[in-house]
Amino acid sequence: MKTRFFKKCISIVLAVALLCLVPNSDVLAADRAYPHDDNLVIVIDPGHGGNETGTQGGRIQERFMNLITAQALVERLNLYEGVTVYMTRFDNDTTMSLTDRAKFAETVDADFVFSVHYNACYAHDRFGIEVYTSRVAPYNAYGYQFGNLLMQRYESEFGIFPRGVKTRKGLRTEGDYYTIISANVYREIPAVIIEHCFADGPIDAVFTQTGDQLRNYGYADADAIAEFFGLKSSILGLDYTGYSTNLIEVDVNGFNDATYEDRTSPDSVNVSVVNLDPSSNTVTVRVEATEADGMMMFYALSTDGGWTWEESQVWPGADTYTGTFDSSFELTLSFNSGDRPDIVVKAFNRYDAYTKSNQITFIDRFNSTDKPLYREA
Ligand SMILES: [Zn+2]
Repeated sequence: MKTRFFKKCISIVLAVALLCLVPNSDVLAADRAYPHDDNLVIVIDPGHGGNETGTQGGRIQERFMNLITAQALVERLNLYEGVTVYMTRFDNDTTMSLTDRAKFAETVDADFVFSVHYNACYAHDRFGIEVYTSRVAPYNAYGYQFGNLLMQRYESEFGIFPRGVKTRKGLRTEGDYYTIISANVYREIPAVIIEHCFADGPIDAVFTQTGDQLRNYGYADADAIAEFFGLKSSILGLDYTGYSTNLIEVDVNGFNDATYEDRTSPDSVNVSVVNLDPSSNTVTVRVEATEADGMMMFYALSTDGGWTWEESQVWPGADTYTGTFDSSFELTLSFNSGDRPDIVVKAFNRYDAYTKSNQITFIDRFNSTDKPLYREA
């Protein structure tokens, strides 16, 4: 019995090994968007530094976190062949303007700039990785294809939620809001901002507790960069020169719709009771939303009429790679005898703009026997 199982294992291993030997050019999922020669020059930009601390919401200031990750990134990317890697800053005391970083990239004839950051927000309630790319073709496509590769890696390796590849419009221009992107694009150098995860929120805090974690993100970034450009490393035993089924299709000459900046809140959000079980004091509600110009991504629940909110959750079916989400889902909520809940939901789109639902107001208290009266206003 044991030997037969063992033989089966061996044949599976052989089958997998044979699959790996199949010439791979014809199984390319999508073409590599970024054309480059054998002399690839990459600039890694650890965000902030010196007087610019970055977010202070994490265990350490963001400028320190960025440098730790960036150093690990550079160390690993240097193990790949056919690539020259530069950094914009090497210590935490250097204050460097964003334009100077782009000028530096120009002087070394950079092919691509990757700016390394960690995120934070005022409400400390967000989580996940996001990548900012340019609004301008073809830079938009490069960042979109890279960002999707990176997010897939973060989701599978670390369990960090993929928030999407995004753009942000400049205040007075049709160009980009973030100077590290616009100043590089002005010099015809593609640039992206990697916001690895949120340093300040309760959900992502577990991902930024140790230096090893911050270094591991640098290694993952390096491997994603290598996969994006099709590099190989004999030292690491990694070869991305052939196909990558993880590459997403992009329109190099146009604007990739998935990166569209949605500046309005979701169109409509509604909650309604679908089932009420008085014996177990449970109520099942249906949450529905419409969002024509974007996608739903998170929701938060309140059972006290919006005075307090539970931790944000991923909207069921939200898939940043396809832009799809479930138009409705059901939640079953349990209460105690004596509770009189007021149920309301905050529904967030991919750009964190939210719409509050109507409220389900219970007129009676749950009492384990009678159906409590409620109204849906
Ligand atoms: Zn930052």
